[in-house]
Amino acid sequence: MTTAAVLHEVDADLVVETVVLTSPGPREVRVALAASGICHSDVMVARGGMASPLPIILGHEGSGVVLEVGSDVTRVRVGDHVALSWAPECGQCFYCLSGRSNLCAEYAPRVLDGGLLDGTSRFRSTGGDTIAQYSFLSTFTEETIVAEQSCVPISADMPLLPASLIGCAVMTGVGAALFSGNVRAGDTVAVLGGGGVGINAVQGAAIAGAGRVIVVDANPAKRETVSAFGATDFLLTGDGDPAAQVLELTHGRGADVVIDATGDAAAMAAAYSAARRGGRIVYVGVAPSDAVVALPAARLPREEKVITGSFYGGAVPLRDFPLVVDLYQSGRLKLDELVGAVVPLARINDVFGKPSNAARSVIDFGLGA
Ligand SMILES: [Zn+2]
Ligand SMILES: [Zn+2]
Repeated sequence: MTTAAVLHEVDADLVVETVVLTSPGPREVRVALAASGICHSDVMVARGGMASPLPIILGHEGSGVVLEVGSDVTRVRVGDHVALSWAPECGQCFYCLSGRSNLCAEYAPRVLDGGLLDGTSRFRSTGGDTIAQYSFLSTFTEETIVAEQSCVPISADMPLLPASLIGCAVMTGVGAALFSGNVRAGDTVAVLGGGGVGINAVQGAAIAGAGRVIVVDANPAKRETVSAFGATDFLLTGDGDPAAQVLELTHGRGADVVIDATGDAAAMAAAYSAARRGGRIVYVGVAPSDAVVALPAARLPREEKVITGSFYGGAVPLRDFPLVVDLYQSGRLKLDELVGAVVPLARINDVFGKPSNAARSVIDFGLGA
């Protein structure tokens, strides 16, 4: 038994209740959650913007301590600290062998199916009904069972509360700049959207040595937030077309790299126009399942822009979570400053889906993280 926040139906509050957690399989790990961030895509599922089996335990950004390991687990031992990855790798497919395990042919297409790697969930209601797992994880729960491939060991001297944010917003945003955006020293980078992923894209761009980091957001209160993370310029969506504003700031040329962290179809179209000729556009924001982006077809060939998606920031979690820890511990990446409201699981509905100027609201499970 454990206590979890369960989504029973779309648009309803989460219900914090006792649930049954079965035993880990041979290559599975039982983890006591220390902390979990609340991500935009959790809220999208709860609001019906992303199809998902129900009931489900959401949460896909967490850290914790290993409580129990299956008989064949080699990656972690009981007592290890882990950050959880929603992109487990099979290790044998074309993508895993190409260093792109975030695109794993075996598992990436099944991330929203509601089970672990074999397709089944380890959670049941006390009445015996299956409760789905989210993104191979489920972190709005005191304990979870995940695949060994979702566990990334982190050093014991890394505080677990900030470590909880690595597994989605931080890796996705930082990776969008470093890996997908390939930001170079001196580049001008425009980031559309100053939420959890956008702020971390700003940090990633700053770490890569960007000369100028322009953030576009609808909320004027974000100006101060993003400048603390390395933004040099701030533009308000309400002041006019974002692309036109970025062009004006860059002497009509456009940004070298544009990162869309909104997932909004209009912003995604603007991102294309905000990039200079030959520049790079990174789509990292999660859009509703039925959204379509209109691009100016006649300009595509002659402008030679490079458009790329970015899934988990193009990162290899097992390789790159430790990189994020190193950047944090050496003072070059801010994690504590991302944290807004911190609440116990029992109060998750106070913050779930509520607007906040901070990048993240966090559930603290009281392990002393
Ligand atoms: Zn997320
Ligand atoms: Zn694979």
